[in-house]
Amino acid sequence: MNRYPKRDDLRAMSGYHSPQVSVPVRLNTNESPIEPPAEFVRDLATSVGDIRWNRYPDRAARELRSAIAALHQVRPENVFVANGSNEVLQSVLLAYGGAGRTVATFEPTYQLHSHIARIAGSTVVNGTRNADFTLSGDEVRRVLTDHQPSVTFLCSPNNPTGLAEDPALIASTVATAPGVVVVDEAYAQFSPQSALGLVREDARVAVSRTYSKTWSMAAARLGYLIGPTWMIEDLDVVALPYHLDALKQVAGITALKYVSHMERGAADVVAERERLLSEMRTMPLTVWPSQANFILFRPNSVGSGDSAGAAAGGIGRRVWQHLLDNGVLVRDCSSWEGLTDCLRVTVGSATENAAFLVALRSAVSARD
Ligand code: PMP
Repeated sequence: MNRYPKRDDLRAMSGYHSPQVSVPVRLNTNESPIEPPAEFVRDLATSVGDIRWNRYPDRAARELRSAIAALHQVRPENVFVANGSNEVLQSVLLAYGGAGRTVATFEPTYQLHSHIARIAGSTVVNGTRNADFTLSGDEVRRVLTDHQPSVTFLCSPNNPTGLAEDPALIASTVATAPGVVVVDEAYAQFSPQSALGLVREDARVAVSRTYSKTWSMAAARLGYLIGPTWMIEDLDVVALPYHLDALKQVAGITALKYVSHMERGAADVVAERERLLSEMRTMPLTVWPSQANFILFRPNSVGSGDSAGAAAGGIGRRVWQHLLDNGVLVRDCSSWEGLTDCLRVTVGSATENAAFLVALRSAVSARD
């Protein structure tokens, strides 16, 4: 072996991956169960014919940013676009995090906030949520005062716990944070609230969004951020030239012609979520409320019977395996800090959800 060692600070890290297992019902990555409308695909095919493939794409992605700006009633100069909201987050961390700077998250939350912050060379500090996964103002104040983070992440609705953050808490965090605050709203369209109204030229806050969930376009890898113009300028400094290809720009513009279709899809997902929640509440599970397109739950332990499964992991892991054996893949969060034995299921189609409920009922009753 003649490997060259990577950076010292990356040695203990592994990549962040959600397993892609081939099973009939895949409810582990919070994708939309709804495909974009057939007209979208036809429109897109026509627009693709107009792309000048020998030329670089519009580096400033002006048309796409204008279309997103119109959707949110802001100016194109308030919009930064990137390859998925993960690249948006990475750009924020390259611009405002990095060596010698601190990034704050409140756990449990979306793991990539800490992961990308570390890759960017930042020091990560993790505040903690209350037992019910809400966030206390005291804890936010403690982290901001003790660590003076350059970047503070809030995630609303929070992945993987499901609840949106209290709007008053978001506003007070923005008012007191010493650095920038990013409100990750990957799931905002499934929730009645948004922090977009806080974005102003003289506030250090931005909201990130994605096409991957509501817009049924996880395959396209397109995300964006709405923020003050000075922040968009800073993010442009760290973005690679022409990072957003012409195909993706056109896909993003075309999708915005089908807003009402997407809104109906989000409403259907919310209705399915409520149905799933009420069914799951009849089972021996702890089920957390959700304002997103997924639900966090924990199978109740059944005392001595559980020791038999200890070798194969805890009860969460065993229920996960039982679901998988029955063709249903959910996210196993059972080994994550603060989430012992917890699993997260994405709201799927009515058929997928029905298959999940049958498999789950048999998993939890098999233990009785
Ligand atoms: N933020 C949160 C909270 C997420 O859950 C996800 C996807 N799992 C993302 C950002 C990234 O989404 P994408 O890169 O697909 O836009």
